Amino acid sequence: MTILPTNTSKKLGLVIDLDICVGCHACAVNCKEWNTGGHAGPLTDKEPYGIKPTGVWFNRIHTFEVTLNEMEPGRTVHFPKSCLHCADATCVTVCPTGASFKREEDGIVLVNENKCIGCKLCSWACPYGAREYDSDEGVMKKCTLCIDRIYNKNIEEIDRVPVCVSTCPASARHFGDFNDPNSNVSKITRNREGFDLMEEIGYKPTNKYLPPRPRQNNAKESNLPPEMHLQTDIQNPILRWFDRALSR
Ligand code: SF4
Ligand code: SF4
Repeated sequence: MTILPTNTSKKLGLVIDLDICVGCHACAVNCKEWNTGGHAGPLTDKEPYGIKPTGVWFNRIHTFEVTLNEMEPGRTVHFPKSCLHCADATCVTVCPTGASFKREEDGIVLVNENKCIGCKLCSWACPYGAREYDSDEGVMKKCTLCIDRIYNKNIEEIDRVPVCVSTCPASARHFGDFNDPNSNVSKITRNREGFDLMEEIGYKPTNKYLPPRPRQNNAKESNLPPEMHLQTDIQNPILRWFDRALSR
């Protein structure tokens, strides 16, 4: 069993705005591009133009057509997902070799590939499907929060953010320290009632999601009984829908 730090000096992570994400996949593609040449690279990529492409992708975008009830038109929600760098990361504690670990200085969860035996216990322990097994190298890989970028003094300071954040053309992704109440990510999470993905399972993910905003001037919705209106708190039916869909 590998021990988790009780506290971390910083709590670096992402805020992802589900109201703004347009599902363009730019973040996923640039994540693949950066990381295949970086700390965790190369990332396996098999038959990329074939019928069944497979490979290692740290960031994946899932798109859902959400229909909450018969009285409301459906809406499309794009849902980017990568490691959430959980505080209570069971993917770390199940690791028999100490390959998976959480850094005390910034809370980033990493894999030491030299210690990984490819047993895949961590991927079974991760409820978010955020671990990626590299069959070419026989080791587990995952999002590093671009550790080779955010501390990289060889690049401009403005670019020292995860590449998914700097790439997003819609500015749907934000990066910062959740331990600092005045950071951009802490403020935006407070202001927009950001939520934990599948909070009830208790992994305490660092990354937060901002819920889709209610539709404006939706005549059909205004005819719904009050309890069925879209809300911005955790009762938001889209969030409940996500919880159900991801828990399956
Ligand atoms: Fe571990 Fe999964 Fe949480 Fe990432 S999202 S820290 S892989 S449990
Ligand atoms: Fe640890 Fe590697 Fe096994 Fe995951 S696959 S639990 S990182 S040894």
